[in-house]
Amino acid sequence: MTDPILPGATLGVLGGGQLGRMFSLAARRMGYRVHVFVPQADSPAGQVSDHEERAAYDNLDALRHFAAGVDVVTFEFENVPAETAAAIADVVPVRPSGSLLHTTQHRRREKEALAAAGVPTVRFARVESEQDLAAGLERVGAPAVLKTAAWGYDGKGQERIEQPEDGLAAWDAIGRAPAVLEAFASFEREISVVGARGLDGSVALYDPFENLHANHILDVSLSPARVDPRTAERAHEIARTLLSTWSVVGVFCFEFFDLGDGELVVNEIAPRPHNSGHLTIEGNHCSQFEQQVRAVCGLPLGSTERLAPAAMANLLGELWADGAPDWAAACAVPGVHLHLYGKDEPRPGRKMGHVTAVAPTLDAAREHAERARAAVTRPAGTRPIVSAAPPA
Ligand code: AMP
Repeated sequence: MTDPILPGATLGVLGGGQLGRMFSLAARRMGYRVHVFVPQADSPAGQVSDHEERAAYDNLDALRHFAAGVDVVTFEFENVPAETAAAIADVVPVRPSGSLLHTTQHRRREKEALAAAGVPTVRFARVESEQDLAAGLERVGAPAVLKTAAWGYDGKGQERIEQPEDGLAAWDAIGRAPAVLEAFASFEREISVVGARGLDGSVALYDPFENLHANHILDVSLSPARVDPRTAERAHEIARTLLSTWSVVGVFCFEFFDLGDGELVVNEIAPRPHNSGHLTIEGNHCSQFEQQVRAVCGLPLGSTERLAPAAMANLLGELWADGAPDWAAACAVPGVHLHLYGKDEPRPGRKMGHVTAVAPTLDAAREHAERARAAVTRPAGTRPIVSAAPPA
């Protein structure tokens, strides 16, 4: 068995967003150094890391140089070319492996891998030509959702098709890119399971979270999900099967549609910690980010036990529409923890931060998280003047 990578070592992260930021905070607390590889300067992860290496993901020389300075590489952003992970793997271990990155960054490959593992998904068809589209609509039926096969996230590159005649217009709307046509699922709720598998093959799963979306973007997550034990057990069974079948080393998130009566289909997989697991920072013994550190370093996995019911509400760029949000008002709500990602451009739909509330009951946690988020929007006329330029 490979020796664990112990505190004092240097961990490399591909990607500089909020997931890398929270990974870095967990790793540095444990005594690791963190180097981040990211194309843009002053990234959310770079701000809290020991070193930010700035280069494009296809700059193989820069990647090899980066890899030579770290003991292991993980990623927080899966939309990097397969060659990127391969170039790094020549120098240091990449965990999870580049082949899993390759599978999960592409909806068709991911769905085919799920089918091969015997895991249920919605009916789907690949669409790469007008003939495929017509045949797919015949097989999948309507309503359906057409999604670009690659580079999609947060509902981007998705078009709903109400009736077969709308198919071509939907494909035009996503630029006739290679796509996956999915049957529209009328689910009772959406849940996710975040799970880790260690180097020794051990598996640790968090209880399912319940996810509420607005405009295809995660809005609120609840822990635990309001599902019966049979459904939670089934979600765990699927997560465990996939982690083991794919020999994952790292943290994955499995997103499900709960169709009722214990029937689940997998919607999507993230080969990394997930927005729905942010509430593990305060709500569980070991957060999903510490778990990622432990898994990729070959340490024993941490306890996923829940400390208290928790709710997370995302803070999107819209909250800045009327000026600087009132963070003090959010902090005044009991049991609320504020997380801001250090991004300076609050565009609509952009994830700028989140609030998590822990409380004795799930209803109270949700109410507190949503109240804290609502409180940051100041009534007109009471906004502070925030200088755009730093003081001279
Ligand atoms: P995705 O990017 O695939 O996770 O989609 C974002 C959200 O769109 C999901 O969390 C669902 O709320 C909704 N959605 C995506 N695919 C489907 C589907 N096949 N049926 C129903 N809703 C869907």
